[in-house]
Amino acid sequence: MACIFCDIVAGRAEASVVHEDEQVLAFMDIRPMTPGHLLVIPKQHATDLAELDAALGGPLFATAQRLAAALRRSPLKPAGINLFLADGVAAGQEVFHVHLHVLPRTPGDGWGLRGTFQWPHRMTLDAQAGQIRNVLPE
Ligand code: AMP
Ligand code: ZN
Repeated sequence: MACIFCDIVAGRAEASVVHEDEQVLAFMDIRPMTPGHLLVIPKQHATDLAELDAALGGPLFATAQRLAAALRRSPLKPAGINLFLADGVAAGQEVFHVHLHVLPRTPGDGWGLRGTFQWPHRMTLDAQAGQIRNVLPE
């Protein structure tokens, strides 16, 4: 199936590249939510986290960490950085090739996660921890 990020990796679609190595590519988001918004992707196609080779998680994060440092040194001078990954439609994923957003932040830039904090009982947290622990992959 056609994948815009695979097209970028292959050079069939244009991108403003910031970093490339054997495993990872990082480029400017075409519709930045804040100035300097970057995406880090594995070169090898993976639709979502479940498909992503676990060995690529480290290089993806390490690249995001280097990009965050570069953004802070750059004239964009963000006051903070958010890393964000949408896994699945319900999480807001729109491009089905895993990507890690690196979002420069400034006070009042309007970006944020919406939600309501809850205060579940410790028994609920322990029960949920158990449910997740029981099915942790190797
Ligand atoms: P997500 O909602 O996490 O799937 O985000 C997909 C992101 O990919 C959005 O922020 C888009 O602006 C970005 N995007 C889509 N197509 C391109 C493209 N051709 N080049 C760069 N960024 C893109
Ligand atoms: Zn792809």
